[in-house]
Amino acid sequence: MAAVKFVILGGGPAGVEAAATASRNGAQVTLIEREIVGGAANLWDCIPSKAMIAIGGVRALAQRSKSSGMELHCDDPDLDVLRARMASISEQLSHSTERQLKGQGVNMIRGTGRLVDEHHVAVITESENSEELLLEADAVLLATGSSPRIPPWAVVDGNRVMTTRHAYPPLVIPEHLVVIGSGVTGVEFVHLFRSFGSKVSLVVSRQQVLPQKDPEVAAALETDFLQSNVALIKGARADRLDVSDDGVVVHCEDGRAIAGSHALLAIGSVPASAGLGLDCAGIEVNSSGYVVINQHCQTNVRHIYAGGDLSGRLQLASVAAMQGRKIAEHVVGLHTRDHRHLDYDKAASAIFTEPEIADVGLAEAEAFALGQKIRVTKVPFAVNAKAMIDGDPRGFVKLVSDPNTGVVLGGSIVGAHAAELISVIALAVHANLRVDDIADTLFVHPSLSDVIAAAAD
Ligand SMILES: Cc1cc2nc3c(=O)[nH]c(=O)nc-3n(C[C@H](O)[C@H](O)[C@H](O)COP(=O)(O)OP(=O)(O)OC[C@H]3O[C@@H](n4cnc5c(N)ncnc54)[C@H](O)[C@@H]3O)c2cc1C
Repeated sequence: MAAVKFVILGGGPAGVEAAATASRNGAQVTLIEREIVGGAANLWDCIPSKAMIAIGGVRALAQRSKSSGMELHCDDPDLDVLRARMASISEQLSHSTERQLKGQGVNMIRGTGRLVDEHHVAVITESENSEELLLEADAVLLATGSSPRIPPWAVVDGNRVMTTRHAYPPLVIPEHLVVIGSGVTGVEFVHLFRSFGSKVSLVVSRQQVLPQKDPEVAAALETDFLQSNVALIKGARADRLDVSDDGVVVHCEDGRAIAGSHALLAIGSVPASAGLGLDCAGIEVNSSGYVVINQHCQTNVRHIYAGGDLSGRLQLASVAAMQGRKIAEHVVGLHTRDHRHLDYDKAASAIFTEPEIADVGLAEAEAFALGQKIRVTKVPFAVNAKAMIDGDPRGFVKLVSDPNTGVVLGGSIVGAHAAELISVIALAVHANLRVDDIADTLFVHPSLSDVIAAAAD
């Protein structure tokens, strides 16, 4: 039987994982990427933001070192060195992924692709002698991602007014940054800039930062923000932005005005679908422009799939990659095995603030809203030996389980290395393990994981 011709538009986590899985399983794969293999995740989002946060963390470490008997001192950041470091991390990651895919036989094209009809993709190549290619496809994956949402009242100049894409690093470290938007991205950038020494004000449209998260978790972060003099402007919806040579003024619907030296917009994203030819193939989109998919990530045109941010589901690189894998399995006919659907409710996610925040599965507040009976156990890091040794005993582990069966339904962690520690609970939620399974596991001692075992005990 002839190999399936699988054409993928977009080389972010969804596109890359789909290409690798499909080619491993015998498909003839072409991956079209216009910018950098690894995608926005590598160039603009996950990787540079976490790299900047890690560098900013050096200052926090220096602060903590004061009580350790071996005090560290921090210089002001050298923005040119930082810029070069960001570029080098992205390039290294991109090159190694590209090498791997080429080694697996994936045909890589640098260029911009669009659907011409249900079975054809046109590509304008990025080479010196740019040309238009026409590719025939048995299956297509649309994985072109998303970009920051810019409201009509803001003009982004990349200096006074930035999106997250201008912050790796910015042209200058702002004296006083006003961050608009208090979701995951907004709070991460508050943390990033305060660690680089900026004064930060956060415009919060509701009464709680991280409105989608467990209130206790959000409260822990708010406390930390307030302790480091981050101004929280709550119940404030920005609707105008004035920019002058000296700074910015963010105006809110209720008349409040917040002056700063710079502003950063973190108010969500829009699908990267302009010029993608969705109309030419009759692809259905929702009211926000995201491509509508079913449980196999198929669009209404069944051999055309959408994955990653463009599919408007949970906007996480890990989810995008998993969608890519499932899509590839579906394309090559491996989806008939059991337990193959992606369960978005079981995706672990993290917020790289300080303290870090991570969660998975059912949250306490969510269960309460659903009227679902649960058992909640919570243990603080303050009782943990390793947290004391590390000099950072902030936060807690919270486990949510079924009171009848003991099955772990979810968990939240606030504290150092929460993004790593949540994996234990994520595995338990994924595999329907019971709290006893965690409590009976022999963890390393002393370790922060001891707190997870204590919460399960
Ligand atoms: C600031 C920020 C930080 C984030 N941090 C995290 C994090 O820590 N962890 C996490 O899991 N998620 C994080 N995310 C979310 C994560 O980055 C996205 O969910 C993920 O990148 C989506 O992957 P994707 O496969 O949709 O493709 P993307 O990574 O969005 O890449 C899409 C690619 O498609 C290419 N493309 C677009 N149009 C075309 C075309 N017509 N032809 C060819 N190529 C095209 C683009 O050049 C791009 O390379 C963050 C997001 C933001 C904004």
